[in-house]
Amino acid sequence: MNIAILSSECFPFVKTGGLADVVGTLPRYLAELGIAVKVFLPKYDSIDEKKFNLKFESEFGVTNVRVAGIPRAVYLHTARISNSSVEVYFIDCREYFFRGKIYSDAPDEDERFILFQKAVIEILQRLQWKPDVMHCNDWQTGLIPILLKENYSWDRMFDATATLMSIHNIGYQGKFSYDALWKAEIDPSRERAVDALRFEGGVSFLKGGILFSEIISTVSEMYAKEILTPHFGAGLQDVIKLREAVLHGVLNGIDIDEWNPETDTYLPVHYSAGNLSNKKIIKQTLLAKTTIPFDEAVPLIGIISRLVEQKGFDLIESKIQELLALPAQWIILGSGKPQYETLFQTMSKTFPHQCWCHIGFSNELAHLIEAGADMFLMPSHYEPCGLNQMYSLRYGTVPIVRKTGGLADTVRDWHDYAAQNDYSGNGFSFVPAEGEALLHAVKRAIDSFHLPDEWKRIQQNGMRGDFSWNSSARKYKRLYEQAIIRR
Ligand code: ADP
Repeated sequence: MNIAILSSECFPFVKTGGLADVVGTLPRYLAELGIAVKVFLPKYDSIDEKKFNLKFESEFGVTNVRVAGIPRAVYLHTARISNSSVEVYFIDCREYFFRGKIYSDAPDEDERFILFQKAVIEILQRLQWKPDVMHCNDWQTGLIPILLKENYSWDRMFDATATLMSIHNIGYQGKFSYDALWKAEIDPSRERAVDALRFEGGVSFLKGGILFSEIISTVSEMYAKEILTPHFGAGLQDVIKLREAVLHGVLNGIDIDEWNPETDTYLPVHYSAGNLSNKKIIKQTLLAKTTIPFDEAVPLIGIISRLVEQKGFDLIESKIQELLALPAQWIILGSGKPQYETLFQTMSKTFPHQCWCHIGFSNELAHLIEAGADMFLMPSHYEPCGLNQMYSLRYGTVPIVRKTGGLADTVRDWHDYAAQNDYSGNGFSFVPAEGEALLHAVKRAIDSFHLPDEWKRIQQNGMRGDFSWNSSARKYKRLYEQAIIRR
């Protein structure tokens, strides 16, 4: 089986969020199942060619890809995902991808990803590599199912190529003006395609992908149910409803080699579920980098996140005084909305012995926080899957989450389960999207922290969970098979 995976991010080459982690890891596991996988990625200026051994395919030469009526020169570079046979193909078009950032509000944002998608198809043609499935991820690749069935339907090579559209976050829909249609050269007489893309007075690439792909998936079972409702569907719920029969939820796994407290190269010492004693040494190391004094008896609550509305920072803000009055310390890593950057910076300046934040992106610090903190807070309004709560579970850093999407599928509230004499809880969760509910959950976690036997049980329950990609990769394989049959 030949699978082409298309994405705008892939760890370790380029990452802003969980999508990168998924696309960087899933292909390795698919390859182990005997699947031939190629990953396609834009070649952004931020990608370090030397570090990742990118090879310029000079013999492949230039491919001229038309976007907005003009042929654009595209070159090809390749690399490998480490410890695997998976090849990554980088679509090199400087005028679109050398922008200093990977996503933008520029007026030609649509063109950038039209170029990417058409270039992937045209490079597949030149390689004469026929994918059985093109696995599309989010709006940046949502046009592929339409392009294959309309613009490139003349090429018999794609006659049997099916598409799987994975939605990692339905909040990002690739909405543009109607101009995007002629930029992509989608013929106005192709009514089915135009109708599929039409959305809210313009077009949505994601909507087109949802309607034209053989199979749709989201990154947790709960999120697959949630996006059928107006509250979570972000305006696309009725469109999703039309495709409910082919909608599946497959929980993301995590890279259990990259995120392993027994071997993590970012940590000064290591620990396991059977022997947690070194965890406090990491807490000490972590806090030595901050203004917060080490105190074993005070729980350290970590946050690592894009600082955006979705992640529930308004709930924290609404109860900030009450949260700071609790006997707990806070460490925050993230960047995003200035309002929340300022909130955490002010907290850290005003209470330097209790709070510390780093505004920016740091993989090293992320690992140290996952290992060194006692608890991890993730009060998201919605969370398609969420990876940090799984990293936290694996590191014995007890998650406190809002019960939604992938957070609901992975975190079991200690008290909910204990009330039924089931002591398999691995964290704390709350349902109402309200500051009061969050505060109550944090207080419950702090109370448990001071009951050492109970706390250790909660930590170990989390650490012994299976978050590997093994079962999810098998589920993707089944979805590919179903997509092929439907095509
Ligand atoms: P999302 O994809 O919505 O951002 P996820 O929880 O699925 O949320 O994935 C976020 C990923 O990005 C995790 O791997 C997390 O550790 C990482 N991350 C987010 N912000 C930062 C940051 N400031 N520094 C380092 N890693 C970060």
